[in-house]
Amino acid sequence: MRRVMYAFTVLSGVGLALSGCGLFSFEEREAWRGQAEQACLAQGLVQPSAYASRMSSINGPGVCGMEQPFRVTALAGGEVELSRTATLACPIIASTEDWLRDIVQPASQLYFGARVVEIRSGDYSCRTRNNQRGARLSEHAFGNAVDVMAFRLSDGRLVTVQGGWNGEAVEREFLREVFVGACRYFTTVLGPGSDRFHYDHFHIDLARHDPAGRIRVCRPTLKFTPRIDPQAVSGPMSTRTFGMGAGPTPPPEPSASVRKGFLSLY
Ligand SMILES: [Zn+2]
Repeated sequence: MRRVMYAFTVLSGVGLALSGCGLFSFEEREAWRGQAEQACLAQGLVQPSAYASRMSSINGPGVCGMEQPFRVTALAGGEVELSRTATLACPIIASTEDWLRDIVQPASQLYFGARVVEIRSGDYSCRTRNNQRGARLSEHAFGNAVDVMAFRLSDGRLVTVQGGWNGEAVEREFLREVFVGACRYFTTVLGPGSDRFHYDHFHIDLARHDPAGRIRVCRPTLKFTPRIDPQAVSGPMSTRTFGMGAGPTPPPEPSASVRKGFLSLY
């Protein structure tokens, strides 16, 4: 009996250890992730360049990774450098470039009369949401998320999320403009005030919170009227669907799950 109990204890210990890091070796990555990469590449939304080179697929540990990663040193044809080389999948690269072109650069011109030339960013990382043990895997674990800590402008100014969110008026407004604008381009956008983890950066990703990928998470909810109108730049609703088969995506609305606030983050 004692031996049976011992075996049970060891087995459940292993089970706990595995679920603790969320990496079951027999789990498979959701099919939509690879399909979204394929659709993005088939549309030529990201092409290999001096700033984005193809890498071989990343498989593991566990379900972490992506089929066709890029190593990215700059976005927007080299205009916007990344503070550190990023490993990312095609969809988040394409959507981030859309957001930079339609929202971030016009906002930077409007508020500062300068261009954004660098973003301090985070990228691929095989980890759980907010590094919390037992939490679900982060979209970072699939190269499907970007963290933005700061924007460096062509006049040398550094606008940090941590310092600017409640800082001088022009930086507060610029950061709110790009934050609110991001909610049109990504399915998850988190910033200061959303939880205790995002006081110093924006998290943007293309998670599918429901099978159709229509639910949006955009937190915190801000009372802010954007001055940049992306529809003036690229027509109605800029959100790409990456093979989801959906039509134009409606503006983000708080979902039931978001209102209840049970989604843990990211
Ligand atoms: Zn993040």
